[in-house]
Amino acid sequence: MLKNQYDYIICGGGASGLLLAYRMCNDPYFKDRSLLLIEKDPKDRNDRTWCFWESGEGDLEAMVHKTWNHAYFNADDFEMDFSLQPFRYKMIRSLDFYQSMKSKLAEFDQLTQIKASVSHIKDGWVTTEVQSYQGGMVFSSIYNPKSLSHQKKYPVLLQHFVGQVVQTQKPCFDPDKIEFMNFKVPQKGNTRFMYVLPLGRNKALLEYTLFSQNVLERKEYKDAIADFLKELPTGGYEILEEEEGKIPMTCYRFDLKNNSKLLHIGTAGGWTKPSTGYTFQRINEKTKELVDFLKKGQPLSRFGKRTRFWFYDLLFIDVLAKDNANGAKLFKKMFEKNSPEVIFQFLDEKSTLWQEFQIMRSFDVGQFVKALLKRLF
Ligand SMILES: Cc1cc2nc3c(=O)[nH]c(=O)nc-3n(C[C@H](O)[C@H](O)[C@H](O)COP(=O)(O)OP(=O)(O)OC[C@H]3O[C@@H](n4cnc5c(N)ncnc54)[C@H](O)[C@@H]3O)c2cc1C
Repeated sequence: MLKNQYDYIICGGGASGLLLAYRMCNDPYFKDRSLLLIEKDPKDRNDRTWCFWESGEGDLEAMVHKTWNHAYFNADDFEMDFSLQPFRYKMIRSLDFYQSMKSKLAEFDQLTQIKASVSHIKDGWVTTEVQSYQGGMVFSSIYNPKSLSHQKKYPVLLQHFVGQVVQTQKPCFDPDKIEFMNFKVPQKGNTRFMYVLPLGRNKALLEYTLFSQNVLERKEYKDAIADFLKELPTGGYEILEEEEGKIPMTCYRFDLKNNSKLLHIGTAGGWTKPSTGYTFQRINEKTKELVDFLKKGQPLSRFGKRTRFWFYDLLFIDVLAKDNANGAKLFKKMFEKNSPEVIFQFLDEKSTLWQEFQIMRSFDVGQFVKALLKRLF
């Protein structure tokens, strides 16, 4: 039987759990503190591919599988090719991340890792089928979508998709240019687009993606990718890998489930950007912030403040949930009237008030005013 008391317990060893454990172990402040990481799966598959934009070299650079400098966007009659400068779009394969993290974490004596399923977390106690553990503080990345379905205050959209890595007979992709959002696919009353990440001239990851409330039959995503590929001079193709995702897009107050001993992290902690579903780079940044926060000895319930960006996202999700066919138009207006650099800064929540004002002006203000009034009254 393992010892059952730890200073810190991390539940879930995916992106946020592993990064948090890694950052804590690397900081001398935590050297004499005990840390337990509980994960139910072996994490020996490439179950997802993470992409994000970043300027310069990041601290996960060694794991980056591919980068791009250019992107393409289209919606309705508008299309643009653009340079991503000063950013680069980066891809990390989850298996590389899991393996790299596992080997780095194996070096730290203060960390114990166990494979078990957490069934319950209460008052610092974490229950698994193996035994229960007590933590001075508990971090949980275990996401339970049911908690969102019991409320109506915050609409919940999903960024849902199936992605396929395809190998084509003939060269038909530009290896330095992603298709960030290609809205040329039929919208069918939703926000639907193709997202293309070329891995070479003959190889790409294509994700048929929706921002909507309900998931589709798996066949529908796959058929949409096949239809998209029919329009390219592929000369035939083979599907090498497949992945799927259902990422919550909501301003639901995940933080209200935190208390002085328990903090939800990652998607379970509301670290997903509601208006886009991007999470990975936010996990990277927030785990750093969290380590600094812990060193100050403040209660966990004070971690992470809502900012004006939460409020922008709230209105955006309200508008998109009310009129789900509107997404292509909204993104088109944003790209038509603003520079990509400012758009990416805005999505990173690092824009200035003036830039945000310019972005707001790009949209049909009436829709947003209606959503605002509905929220206020
Ligand atoms: C296919 C896919 C592609 C994505 N692509 C991107 C992207 O390109 N860019 C981006 O920014 N975001 C992306 N995301 C969103 C987000 O970055 C990922 O979901 C990310 O993995 C979230 O990290 P997390 O730690 O919150 O959750 P996870 O990485 O899912 O980690 C949670 C961990 O908890 C474990 N767990 C669950 N229940 C229990 C239990 N009861 N007991 C013990 N362990 C448990 C799980 O096995 C898992 O390992 C993607 C998501 C998916 C699904």
